[in-house]
Amino acid sequence: MIPAAFDYISPRTLDEAMHALAAHGEEAKLLAGGHSLLPLLKLRLANPKLLIDLGRIPGLSAISQQKNQIVVGALATHTQIESSELLKKRCPLLPETAREIGDVQVRNRGTIGGNLAHADPSADWPAAILALGGEMRVRGPRGERRLAAEEFFIGPLTTAIEPDEILTEIRVPAFMRRCGSAYLKMAQQASGFAIVGVAVALRVDATGRCEEIGIGVTGLGDKPFRARAVETRLRGNKLTPKLIAASAPQVAEGIDPLEDLHAAAPFRAHLARVYAARAIRAAARRTGGKSG
Ligand SMILES: Cc1cc2nc3c(=O)[nH]c(=O)nc-3n(C[C@H](O)[C@H](O)[C@H](O)COP(=O)(O)OP(=O)(O)OC[C@H]3O[C@@H](n4cnc5c(N)ncnc54)[C@H](O)[C@@H]3O)c2cc1C
Repeated sequence: MIPAAFDYISPRTLDEAMHALAAHGEEAKLLAGGHSLLPLLKLRLANPKLLIDLGRIPGLSAISQQKNQIVVGALATHTQIESSELLKKRCPLLPETAREIGDVQVRNRGTIGGNLAHADPSADWPAAILALGGEMRVRGPRGERRLAAEEFFIGPLTTAIEPDEILTEIRVPAFMRRCGSAYLKMAQQASGFAIVGVAVALRVDATGRCEEIGIGVTGLGDKPFRARAVETRLRGNKLTPKLIAASAPQVAEGIDPLEDLHAAAPFRAHLARVYAARAIRAAARRTGGKSG
């Protein structure tokens, strides 16, 4: 399939990209790895007059630590994140999630920013970024905005980014002592997208009590979400197998599960309950403490 004709520019600075985006409005589309955008162009579901390639803007793919925050540039590829030594030590949930995405080609080209901005309800990154309580930074003609992960995802393929804004970086807390995390999913066999995926990031105190926990869920509803009811039940308590088994089923409460050719709604809800329990147990074990 061949896309409709479009113009292409490759700005060398973020300001240049922002000006082009502001000047062309809805007629322009940002291009990152192209792994979601190009199929849409080929299917003619998107017909932009102009593609603004972000790939040659220096610094947009950097991964660093600033004080107690990890900063991941929007143009960082899944492979870069998977292989980052800094992230393996200071935020292992990110490399673990990256490893779960698609195949080698997809991981080599796809970017975390493109994945989040595209907001596919079955994408992997939203679960991890929600679990970590991440923050997205977007830049536009009105300056920079900081969006908490929970306010970022609005619905299927819809985020809080305005049409004239660019997602520049994602910030998550660096792991400290007694932190643990896990990302588990059932993948569609053809694409690797999550039928259901659950990410957990938690911290326990010296006695093994859960001080903080974030649980991000993808694939279950029409947008990724934090399983607040489960988090509330676990916070302040020892993560015993009994408590985890009693709390995890609440992950699907209040959610209208998606239903498609890959999985019926009740099966998706069942998967979410099973994967939530497993991911919480795995994250708790990785704190170095004891758990079922
Ligand atoms: C065969 C296949 C298998 C895949 N499997 C998985 C999987 O298992 N799990 C998973 O999570 N994903 C999967 N993906 C998606 C892949 O991970 C890509 O990361 C994702 O498609 C989007 O990233 P991209 O960099 O390619 O973005 P693009 O396709 O370039 O852009 C996607 C959208 O985001 C916008 N955009 C891009 N960058 C920015 C920015 N910085 N600011 C604002 N808007 C921006 C674009 O304008 C476009 O609308 C798969 C894709 C394919 C083709």
